[in-house]
Formats: sequence, structure tokens, C-alpha cells
Amino acid sequence: MHIHHVRTALLSVLVATSAAAAQTAKPLVMVVGTGGTIGSAGDYWGGNSTYIPIAELVRTAGIDSVATVESEQFLNVPSSAIGPVQWLELSRHISDVFRSRPRVRGIVVTHGTDTMEETAYFLDLTVAGERPVVVTGSMRPSNMVGADGPANLTNAIRAAVDTAARGRGTMVLMDDRLYSARDVTKTNSTRVETFQAPERGPIAIVDPEGAFYRSRSAGRSIPQFDIRGVKDLPRVDIIYSYAGADSVAIDAVVAAGAKGIVIAGVGRGGMTSSQSDAARRAADKGVIVVTSTRTGSGRVPVGTKGDSIGSGDLNPQKARVLLALALTRTSNPAEIRKIFNENQ
Ligand code: ASP
Repeated sequence: MHIHHVRTALLSVLVATSAAAAQTAKPLVMVVGTGGTIGSAGDYWGGNSTYIPIAELVRTAGIDSVATVESEQFLNVPSSAIGPVQWLELSRHISDVFRSRPRVRGIVVTHGTDTMEETAYFLDLTVAGERPVVVTGSMRPSNMVGADGPANLTNAIRAAVDTAARGRGTMVLMDDRLYSARDVTKTNSTRVETFQAPERGPIAIVDPEGAFYRSRSAGRSIPQFDIRGVKDLPRVDIIYSYAGADSVAIDAVVAAGAKGIVIAGVGRGGMTSSQSDAARRAADKGVIVVTSTRTGSGRVPVGTKGDSIGSGDLNPQKARVLLALALTRTSNPAEIRKIFNENQ
């Protein structure tokens, strides 16, 4: 019944939008769907939902005044099913679209919110060119009262066509706020205002009035990492620190073949002495250890020497993305420290 109502409403939007679309040539945006709550209806939280095709989401979003939109279903999965393999495929796909479609002004990726920040940061580090990539999703399924998906998708498209977005790499649009992929993190399991960039804030506010940037700085066109020859990302694990933590988890991931470890440390990157001993053993075997913080914000200094490299203000999951990419280039700790310093 709910779905029936939604569909009826959708149809009238569709009629209105196609009439308007015929009148003016608008910038072209490609929306690449990967799934997540934004692409779901039904009892999503109860684990009983259905996926909605991206073409249908685009039709409902009311984007006719903003852009001409093409969409494609790249994946249709929860973001827990997206990891290094899909990052490589998605990044290559986006680069291919930009290369083969000069008219595409920007690309919007719809994605589950749980690991959105990791995919977005990977894209930020690997996609070439000045044209923006804007990742968005929703906290509420499409048939829930107060669903945030349509507004997020429309604002993401607004952001993607804005000339001020050029040269800013990959961004995340949620709840009327546009964030740099590097800075943003999910801070609440449930609320729509969950995405924040601790201490840095959003780079713009985007709503039906337009996109309002805090600064005009832009101009990036060269990705930091060229993934064309990369088949797999090296294994990098995140190890949590907590009162009384022992060495078992660190030794286990080293035995499993980890090339890098990120410690989600206490406070300013701290860990127990048992974990420190294990981290030193790992470093002696050539495993790169980066320390971050489990506190949710703040810095762990990258440092200048010693075994351990701090993540700066990259959270553990972002530090993992950067470390995995850094390891595709080098396993020299000094070089990796330099990469972390360049990304502060
Ligand atoms: N479980 C969902 C996902 O990340 C949550 C969401 O999209 O908000 O795919």
C-alpha cells in the first residue's frame, strides 16, 4: 500500500519533470547507484526491505530544475558489502565515465552510509580530473516519514553541477551539508545529521537556494594515487585499543598477512604495553603501524621518527584507506610517513 502511494506520486513528478526538461539544456550529471538505505523501502531496520532501482530514485527526487540526469545501477548492496575490491572497480568506472563522457559535469554516487566515508575517501585519492564526485545516501528508507533520500540526492546533484565544486575532489553531501571526503565521518548510528567533519566543518551548505562555500579554494586535478596497475589493495587491519587489551589481535592479523595495521588508540594514539610490544614485533617484520585515535576527533601527530606513524586527524578507517594506497607505492616507513604528512 505504501509503495503504491509512492509510485502514484512518482508518476506525477515524472510527467512534470519531462515537460520541464524539454525546455532548457541543463548540465548533465551521472548518478551511479550502489545501494544502501537510500535505495530501499520497507522495514529496512528490521532487515526486511526491498531495493529500489536507482532510476526510480532519480525520478522521485525532483531534480528537473537542477540538471539533466542519467543513472546507472553499478551495485545494489548495503555498504557492508563494499570494500577494497569494489573501491577499485568503482574508482575505475568513474574515471572511465569522465574520460568517455566529456559532457558529464559531475558524478553523484549513492551509497550506504555505514562505510560511505571510506569509499568516498578512496575515490578522493584516486579519481583524476577537476570534475566533482559527490557521494550521498540517506538515513531513512524511502517510504519512511521524513525520508531524507530525495533531498540528499537533489542537493548532491546541485553540488555536482556547481562550478565552485570543480577541483575539490570527492565530497559527501548529507543533510544539506557538503563535506570533503577526507574530513567527513559518520558520528551517529541513527540520526539524519550524523555526518560531521570534526574540527573542520562542512565546506558548503547546499539547499534549494544554491551552494554556499566557505572558501573558494579548489583546483585539484591530479589524483594522488594511480590505481591503473593495481590488482588488489594490500591487507591493512584496524586494531582497537582498550583497557587491558592484549597482543592477540595484532599478532593474529600479522599472521594473516597484514602489510599494515592501524591502531584505533586511546587518547592521542595510546595502547597497552602488550599491544605496543606486539606492534613493535609487527614493525620488525616490515608491517607498517599507524596510530590513530578512537576518540572520534583530534590529532595523533604524524611524527618525524621511530616505528610508529601517527594518522594526524584521519580517523582509523580513513587512515586505513590512505595506508592501503600508500602501500601500493612503497613499504618504506619514511615514505609512508611523508604521505601521511602530505595528507594533513
Ligand atoms: N546499512 C546501510 C548501509 O550502509 C545504512 C545506510 O545506508 O544508512 O548500507
